[in-house]
Amino acid sequence: MTVPTVSLIEGDGIGPEITAATVRAIEAAGGQLAWDRVDAGAGAVARHGDPLPAATLASIQRTKLALKAPLATPSGGGYRSVNVTLRQHFDLYANVRPARTMAGVPARFSGVDLVIVRENTEDLYAGIEHYVDPRRTAAESIAIITRFGSERVIVYAFEYARRHGRRKVTLVHKANILKMSNGLFLDTGREVAARYPDIEFDDMIVDATAMKLVIAPERFDVIVTMNLFGDILSDLAAGLIGGLGVAPAANIGDSGCAMFEAVHGTAPDIAGKGIANPTGLMLSAALLLDHVEQGGAAARLRTGIAAALASADTRTGDLGGRANTAQFTDAVIRAMH
Ligand code: NAD
Repeated sequence: MTVPTVSLIEGDGIGPEITAATVRAIEAAGGQLAWDRVDAGAGAVARHGDPLPAATLASIQRTKLALKAPLATPSGGGYRSVNVTLRQHFDLYANVRPARTMAGVPARFSGVDLVIVRENTEDLYAGIEHYVDPRRTAAESIAIITRFGSERVIVYAFEYARRHGRRKVTLVHKANILKMSNGLFLDTGREVAARYPDIEFDDMIVDATAMKLVIAPERFDVIVTMNLFGDILSDLAAGLIGGLGVAPAANIGDSGCAMFEAVHGTAPDIAGKGIANPTGLMLSAALLLDHVEQGGAAARLRTGIAAALASADTRTGDLGGRANTAQFTDAVIRAMH
């Protein structure tokens, strides 16, 4: 087996602590990955004068894979968000956010197991907006939806469903009002769905989806949607399972390029104290292992995480537990064997 090389970005705040814990857990799970450690974020500004040094971009260009802890975007200095720049530079068009209830993580629901695939490059986030008049009493933002952009993310959702043994894809839209842009996304979805007769397909208006997600989240399997609705619904889904602290994410581009990251921020209030919860980054690493077809290691890692979360003795303080980062990680590793 060739060992994939992954660009590893430790990030800022609690980033280095949760990265070290995650690397230990991956190795214990038998994950075969080589690391190319590179810099980004506020720390990179201090060291290289740039939140996204050229060497970091070159590394990801080479490896096509990145595991990234949270980054602080330095305020002032006119820096663009590194996360947004990375997504755009590598055309990471599909944002994949699984949401699954886990024993030990306080949440209002049980039995939630869904995945939101969000289009990551178009829609209102294309950044096309302007004030209509010099006095700035009106402004206009333009949503761009293309057949190309819609098709590739919807195909990704169906391929994901097939690969992960999921039975249904629900396309979420507002085509009853936005008949052209959202209508194009929906029409494209129907065309793509016809090519996947083994996967059930339905569509749902976004407002009805928001309600159904909080009444009967178990009704959903894979959701595919546009950028703005996906942004909102993926946080809603994280809320169903206990918040952003334990949520993983993958950003997928063409030709296998993919970046995996925890959804939470750099938690500056607890940085350096050794008490951060590495679950979000560890679950993102499990998505990475799935992506490089090391499903056995991914499954061992998830088993370890589930076991460590299940007991208050081994989960971290943010989840009402008594363990610090190292104790949690030890428990993850113990439970794999
Ligand atoms: P945050 O997620 O960093 O923190 C919110 C709260 O959750 C804090 O109390 C924090 O201690 C806690 N928390 C978050 N992750 C935790 C973990 N793994 N273990 C234990 N507790 C955890 O959100 P914020 O305070 O709004 O943002 C702080 C910084 O992070 C900002 O600079 C922001 O720009 C950045 N940020 C980065 C990303 C990213 O890189 N993907 C995402 C969001 C925010």
